[in-house]
Amino acid sequence: MSWKRWCAGILICLAEFALARDFVPPRPAAETIPLPFGEQVMSLAIGHGNDVYVGTGTGLHRFDGSRWQSLGLADAAPIRSLLIDQHGRVWVGGYDHFGYLERLPNGQDRFVDLSSDFADAIAKERVADIWEIVESNDAIYLRALKHLFKLDHQGHRLGTWFHPGRFGMPFLIGDQLWLQFRGDGGGFRPLEGDTFGPVMAGSERYATTLVQAIGEFAADRYFVFEVNGQMSWLNPVLGQSENLPMQPAFRSLVSGRQLDASHMAFSGDDGVLRVLNVDTGELNELELGSGYLPDLQIQDGQRIVVVDDSFVYRLTWPVQWRIVDARHGLISGQTSAVLINDRLYITGSSGAQSARYGEHGVESDFVDEDWTAGEGWALIQDGQDLLFAETFAVMRIRDGVVTPLTPNDLYPRSFVPTEDGTGYWIGSEHGVARLNRGGPLGWQMHGFTNSPGVLLRRVSECGSKLFASNGRLGLYEVELDEGRPVRLIEVPPDQGVPAKQPALLFKFQGQCYVSTVGKLARFDGQRFVPDDTLGLQNLIDRNERIDVSAAADGTWWSLGDEQILFKKPGGEWEVLLRRSKGVIDYRAATLLPDGRLLVVRGPELWQMMGPPRAMLATEPQSLRVTGFQQAGKKRSHDLPLDGTATVRYGPDTLQVDFSDGLLFVTEPAEFSFRLSGANATWSPYSQLSAANLSGLQPGHYQLDLRARRGERETERVNALAFEVAPRWYQSNGSRMVGLIAGIALLWLLIALWYRGHVRRLTESNAALDRLVNERTAMWQQANQELKMQADRDGLTGVANRRVFDRELDERLLLARRDGAPFALLMIDVDHFKKFNDEYGHLRGDEVLRQVADLMRQALAGQGLLARYGGEEFAVLLFDECAQARATGEHLRETVQHGAYGITVSIGLACFDPARHVRPDQLIDAADHALYQAKSQGRNCLVVAGLLDPP
Ligand code: GH3
Ligand code: MG
Ligand code: MG
Repeated sequence: MSWKRWCAGILICLAEFALARDFVPPRPAAETIPLPFGEQVMSLAIGHGNDVYVGTGTGLHRFDGSRWQSLGLADAAPIRSLLIDQHGRVWVGGYDHFGYLERLPNGQDRFVDLSSDFADAIAKERVADIWEIVESNDAIYLRALKHLFKLDHQGHRLGTWFHPGRFGMPFLIGDQLWLQFRGDGGGFRPLEGDTFGPVMAGSERYATTLVQAIGEFAADRYFVFEVNGQMSWLNPVLGQSENLPMQPAFRSLVSGRQLDASHMAFSGDDGVLRVLNVDTGELNELELGSGYLPDLQIQDGQRIVVVDDSFVYRLTWPVQWRIVDARHGLISGQTSAVLINDRLYITGSSGAQSARYGEHGVESDFVDEDWTAGEGWALIQDGQDLLFAETFAVMRIRDGVVTPLTPNDLYPRSFVPTEDGTGYWIGSEHGVARLNRGGPLGWQMHGFTNSPGVLLRRVSECGSKLFASNGRLGLYEVELDEGRPVRLIEVPPDQGVPAKQPALLFKFQGQCYVSTVGKLARFDGQRFVPDDTLGLQNLIDRNERIDVSAAADGTWWSLGDEQILFKKPGGEWEVLLRRSKGVIDYRAATLLPDGRLLVVRGPELWQMMGPPRAMLATEPQSLRVTGFQQAGKKRSHDLPLDGTATVRYGPDTLQVDFSDGLLFVTEPAEFSFRLSGANATWSPYSQLSAANLSGLQPGHYQLDLRARRGERETERVNALAFEVAPRWYQSNGSRMVGLIAGIALLWLLIALWYRGHVRRLTESNAALDRLVNERTAMWQQANQELKMQADRDGLTGVANRRVFDRELDERLLLARRDGAPFALLMIDVDHFKKFNDEYGHLRGDEVLRQVADLMRQALAGQGLLARYGGEEFAVLLFDECAQARATGEHLRETVQHGAYGITVSIGLACFDPARHVRPDQLIDAADHALYQAKSQGRNCLVVAGLLDPP
């Protein structure tokens, strides 16, 4: 075999290896909160109001649902453990110190250090890190390497223990504390009164390695995870333990918690969250980041919260949503999703893509379908044909062959099967058309209502009538009379549909509905009548448009612009998703025949897994003001939250930040506030969690706050009081003085402004002049010096072709922008071949140099002379045509009288913005003129005719 074959073989192997990468399973949807402080994170706690606390190498930070705040601790020390107790108190386990946070009336937090109460116990040996904090009904336990501290919930000292052999994992069984003892005679021992009881039967084996996690799955079934990756079941009743089979990923696990009756959740040192089914050994993995995940918490028994140095992540388990994205080859700009057999097709900006689709949703990477160079809008299967709506026409795809079925000005966007089963209605940007079976291609288009600009995506047969709707312009009737051209007629308002309003037409259970702003109407055969048999009046009142369909499992869905709702048979409507920036900003939703929902969210495709579950909609809790700032041009400063704030009247804005304390709710809270003292009306509900107050007159104020989530409302949870104090001039006497001073000031300002304006105008003119002068100087300099060897022609020393091209481009641009005059001379030595033949090339070279020198002198620093190539030169001139012509003639004469009887012919092209868009157009014109000069007998100059083709 030749070496070429070997190489080819190796290349093919490499290519196959590169292509055959494993399919990356879609990732579950995790919500993230960025950590802005750039510190090493060590511990995590979730508060009752969904506050998030993060302990780092040097401090403690709290996220209150809208922003992060650093909580000052005495010294910058690592915080390895955090616990929020049943009363909401935050316990902090630091280095050589521990305590809790106390909330002060002004909303600030203060760290109460309790370690000094244990000074006598600590004196023996230093404590170093507090590794765990555990809460029982009546006590808080803090575990260090060799110390255990017991306190009551108020922070009073209850007891302290020291074990030189080192402690390990503490855990509770019932309300009793158990603690891992390491070293000789170690194992799990219960705290009984003041002393530790005997070792739990079977736990002796846990005396050497550190236990990292313990789960109680039954009274005789304890799950134990050790730091070396070993997992085991401990049965204290029988006094036995049994190892689980080791898996490689176990060695990456860091922190573990029991998730439910059969799962443990673990953070990893590799940025991966893993959920282990302890019964089957099945390990589910979710790559969150690439860094170390130091801590993990379970919230409400189903939400996993985990942290790395950059983000807090939260997700619901079991997974409800999976995300497919660019990692699966998906290109953004999706327009529709269609399930055909076992493949999911996505149409969009790249035409069409498809992937295998099965029980687990998308099961392979997306591959591009090579059907069009344009966009894809809709796809439908009909027998052996795929009908594909691309940018301009409908394509038939049969056996991989793509055949257009319609003219190119159709702009098809949707297919709707006709009721009689003979074909499809095509909703298009130019109206409605019908595609019927028949004809040589198998399909024929009929009756296209060619009305550009109507964009009718939705088409419905309603009794004997055909309607089509447009997202912006309302509802049309499509006139179908046989033998007459089809026509579009706007449905008049007296038929129950407001004119020229965005309308959604849909068919549900055999009835035609049209949803417009604030109105849902059903077609009764004659006209559209108001109707709320669907039970969505609520939404309609909120001016949302709805679009109802039913899934095969009997669930009803309303896929509207603002919300996605579902209703299980016999149930109530529930909100699945609500559109909102930053939370779920979906653009389009598709209900697949299997009842699964696909939601397009930016460049991602969200697949709903399992039956629909409403997103958590919890009543807003612990609604409070989190920040109060006086923000002006000059300065911004924080104000106290305890009602003592006094600000001076002025142009500054008072900015109030508030939060409902719920971090991870998919349905965002809406806030409303009222400023008693200024106006007693509540602001409209808004998702903005801040109020900007400006222009407040002097006086006493109180800001009341309320919030709602869904229909649930929390009233006036927090009131913020403050005073706006008057300034001296706000007394009546000083007001008059102020008025006069104001007028004087105004006059002064106008005068100043006018002077400034004149100065700016002068300046900008001067800048323009400077620019022009600079450029002229540059050109002259370029001619005189051509310092750079790289810019110079080797034989003649004038500018070379590269410089010419560059300068021509630039000059053309300037000329087009400023309308400055500009001309090009193309100069060719006459009969030069003959000269060469007679005198030899060396003499020829000499003559070329001479000609160049003569022309350079003749130009005397005007324009740019360049060797265009061979015995051709080019001159760029920044002159009007007449002047350029004179210069050209001067050059010609100079050469004629200068050397060996040599002459040149010249073509002149003057720049004309209408004809010379590109440089080559100007060159062509000059060349053309030069050609004419040659044919007119040489040694002459011809100006490119203005009527010549450009
Ligand atoms: P015309 O008047 O139609 O331009 O006749 P011409 O002979 O000048 O035109 P043609 O394009 O047929 O020949 C150009 C000649 O220029 C061919 C080549 O020998 C000569 N030439 C091109 N570059 C150089 C060069 O660098 N040095 C020398 N000595 N001769 C050159
Ligand atoms: Mg030539
Ligand atoms: Mg020539």
